[in-house]
Amino acid sequence: MATCWGLRSCCGARRRALWPAARHLRPRAGRSEPGGARTRSYGLSSELLRTDSFVGGRWLPAAAAFPVHDPASGAALGMVADCGVPEARAAVRAAHEAFCSWRGVSVKERSVLLRKWHDLMIQNKEDLAQIITAESGKPLKEAHGEILYSAHFLEWFSEEARRIYGDIIYTSAKDRRSLVLKQPMGVAAIITPWNFPSAMITRKVGAALAAGCTVVVKPAEDTPFSALALAQLANQAGIPPGVYNVIPCSRSKAKEVGEALCTDPLVSKISFTGSTATGKILLQHAAKSVKRVSMELGGLAPFIVFDSANVDQAVAGAMASKFRNTGQTCVCSNRFLVQKGIHDLFVKKFAEAMQKNLHVGNGFEERTTQGPLINEKAVEKVERHVSDAVSKGATVVTGGKRHQYGRNFFEPTLLSNVTRDMLCSQEETFGPLAPVLKFDTEEEAIAIANAADVGLAGYFYSQDPAQIWRVAEQLEVGMVGVNEGIISSVECPFGGVKQSGLGREGSKYGIEEYLEVKYVCYGGL
Ligand code: NAP
Repeated sequence: MATCWGLRSCCGARRRALWPAARHLRPRAGRSEPGGARTRSYGLSSELLRTDSFVGGRWLPAAAAFPVHDPASGAALGMVADCGVPEARAAVRAAHEAFCSWRGVSVKERSVLLRKWHDLMIQNKEDLAQIITAESGKPLKEAHGEILYSAHFLEWFSEEARRIYGDIIYTSAKDRRSLVLKQPMGVAAIITPWNFPSAMITRKVGAALAAGCTVVVKPAEDTPFSALALAQLANQAGIPPGVYNVIPCSRSKAKEVGEALCTDPLVSKISFTGSTATGKILLQHAAKSVKRVSMELGGLAPFIVFDSANVDQAVAGAMASKFRNTGQTCVCSNRFLVQKGIHDLFVKKFAEAMQKNLHVGNGFEERTTQGPLINEKAVEKVERHVSDAVSKGATVVTGGKRHQYGRNFFEPTLLSNVTRDMLCSQEETFGPLAPVLKFDTEEEAIAIANAADVGLAGYFYSQDPAQIWRVAEQLEVGMVGVNEGIISSVECPFGGVKQSGLGREGSKYGIEEYLEVKYVCYGGL
């Protein structure tokens, strides 16, 4: 049986309650759960701290369990059900059974249920944010932001549920009418990463449920608690059994569970957020039975500062775009391209802002803006990018090494004299490293920015209106920030071009990813 401990949300020292408690395991009495599962919980968030899988509206233990660790300290937070292929298949069957009735639920009713789910997230936002910080290390203030962002997808798609339209087409045949129906695709398999453990789920699931699909969610090994807390709230909101299912699993089982989900004949749609490498594997699985796919993959965002830019605005944008979630967002700026006339001033001001405003520490500490990286492998990648750049001639302006706070922490780092042949110019770092390349002309900047096989987000700073049009149109990315470092919003389409993915999430376009277009030729009129 999976167990959980130490996550507490209601005590005097609220911000520090969660992590210290994890070190001192003091189990409270266990409770029986509806459906026969028994979960032992030890904190006041027991309702939200679930450790079993959630399938067909029931909490189900698995034969094995895997530990979830606090990335700030390495300490175990809890043991979670380690689902394998049989559990994945059972979850798909439950979702398929539920689809047969959920697709017929009125759009108004689907909308009301999604809205209730949203309201419950807002009511529980403090506990949900603490869960995110505990399992991902993200500073608590950012975790609060993620919960609002995450809940807003449910709200947005509760509204979009009532705006699914078809068409009537008049053709040259006078005795016919051609109708276009929009119908839910069916069961969607949803595979999500650890860097936004809540929002990456609701951005998909909100759209899927609004469209009339049902889902099986496989969250990342590092962050299953957020997905399970969402299940608890979905259940409380009255989302029918089998509509939202969660099957956590350990990294050692991710491959087989992923394959089982992506090849199951009862699954119609695969929606994945994660690395481009994993996305390619899932696309191969999907090809076998020609399933619909949405892929939100990695990026290598350029951040261009032209001579005409307002340098203070550019530095503020650079700080926001680079260091959110300690540099672990897919839209994080990965390469800073700065025109030669403004280069030295930008580098100076950027370094000053980093030294003044970035504070490394445990995400539960008030002052922390930079939490740990997710694991040792992530730290090693940042270290490798820094040492490769320095060995090829880059200069460390600030930072440059592991942070003394702990093994998963890295100093916010600024490098200048960076060139295109360095790893940090070519690969997503996914950490607190800002490499600056100097350029001469607009054409050169565009060429460097577009010299990538991915294209998720891109940013640039300029006060020249003609340049703004030119550059916005030429950047080969799915999303552009002009004089703006934070661009995500539920109302706007999120997604990339090239190997950054397929499809869009959020916005009015997001729901289309879960709807089939059916043409009905109505003759004999
Ligand atoms: P990842 O290794 O691809 O993992 C993402 C998810 O896929 C996790 O649930 C993981 O499970 C699972 N997984 C891994 N290998 C699998 C396989 N062979 N079959 C089935 N599932 C598999 O990505 P990550 O390193 O966690 O996340 C960071 C990446 O995600 C970055 O590249 C980032 O840019 C990208 N990202 C993109 C977006 C976007 O919207 N475009 C948003 C956020 C992140 P385990 O956790 O158990 O390994």
